[in-house]
Amino acid sequence: MTFLSLKTADLQGKRVFVRVDFNVPMQDGAITDDTRLRAAIPTIQLLIEKGAKVILAAHFDRPKGKVVPTMSLAPIAPALAALLDRQVAFATDCVGPVAEAVVAEMKSGDVLLLENTRFQPGEEKNDPELAKGFARLADVYVNDAFSAAHRAHASTEGLAHLLPAYPGLSMAHELDYLDRALGNPTHPVMAVVGGAKVSSKIDLLQNLVSRVDILAVGGGMANTFLAARGAHVGKSLCEHDLLDTARAIEALAAANKCQILLPSDVVVAEAFAAHAPHRTCEVGDVKDQEMILDAGPKSVAALAAALETAKTLVWNGPLGAFELPPFDIGTMEAARTAAALAHSGRLVAVAGGGDTVAALNQAVVADDFTFVSTAGGAFLEWMEGKALPGVEALKHPS
Ligand code: ADP
Ligand code: MG
Repeated sequence: MTFLSLKTADLQGKRVFVRVDFNVPMQDGAITDDTRLRAAIPTIQLLIEKGAKVILAAHFDRPKGKVVPTMSLAPIAPALAALLDRQVAFATDCVGPVAEAVVAEMKSGDVLLLENTRFQPGEEKNDPELAKGFARLADVYVNDAFSAAHRAHASTEGLAHLLPAYPGLSMAHELDYLDRALGNPTHPVMAVVGGAKVSSKIDLLQNLVSRVDILAVGGGMANTFLAARGAHVGKSLCEHDLLDTARAIEALAAANKCQILLPSDVVVAEAFAAHAPHRTCEVGDVKDQEMILDAGPKSVAALAAALETAKTLVWNGPLGAFELPPFDIGTMEAARTAAALAHSGRLVAVAGGGDTVAALNQAVVADDFTFVSTAGGAFLEWMEGKALPGVEALKHPS
């Protein structure tokens, strides 16, 4: 199974339906972060250069199949026009006679943005009739929205089966790096998984222990693993009902020859607050009234030593309560170590997850990582080893 290449496609005069992620954060009608718009620019530029008619489709927020005026994509058109330095037309519907009439007027190189696909009740239901309606607008389908690829919706999945389907440049880029991190990585592969809870990442941990050589567990979820090994964790965030789950993951790791690395020393405090009085202690020395809020220096050094031996790193989840200084130190130190190794070409370092991206930005190292995914849910499902419907639908037998 392979993907068709957009770069070599002949698209002169063709109508190209491009599924993008324009679900940008907005406040009072203004875009507060245009990262997602900028991510789509290379694909749009390439299509313009190829003489295609570029029809952009995206969802915005959660209108749940109804027209919700505050969730219109209309304000995106001028912002995109400014980034592209050319006109971007807007169609007040994403399908049907209104959209068809606007598309019929398009010339090669024109760019059109369709209204929110989720205004249609059929979008999230992956209604074949809606997909057919989209297909009437175009000759070719491009999906450049990896972050929406874990959903089988009409514009992300159904339509891909009705037209020649290509990954966009940003989708292809993301798939390439994710493949280098977990699909076909250079071993030894190390995973760092942190964050709040084991319960939200059971599938992810189970998938990783069968694929990586070392799994470092950190953050709040490490407390559950420590407790499962018999450690006293005091008032720490800990899922005491999941001790058996933690033990099962450890057993699966052992069966797959995956080494699990847990913190040996920790930073503890009596309050979950920035600058709360704190001390560093061995994992076995946590007192009843204390909670673990960060990895200690020995733990961070062990993690750094393991990173030195790895060729590939995949990271999701902070090692401590990084929003509350000084409990960010463990995460910041580990992030800097990984970034330095990646920067010097000794490590392929890939990371993703909402709080993880925030932590890497806080450490000012995101640029040094080989790849940082902002795809959120799609990234996590990919780490869980799940097939993403929006990606599967782009595959061609070769
Ligand atoms: P991501 O969004 O990257 O997938 P998560 O949402 O799973 O990450 O976890 C992030 C949260 O975990 C952060 O809010 C952080 O404060 C919290 N966290 C990490 N370590 C601890 C800890 N020891 N105790 C309590 N919360 C923690
Ligand atoms: Mg999170």
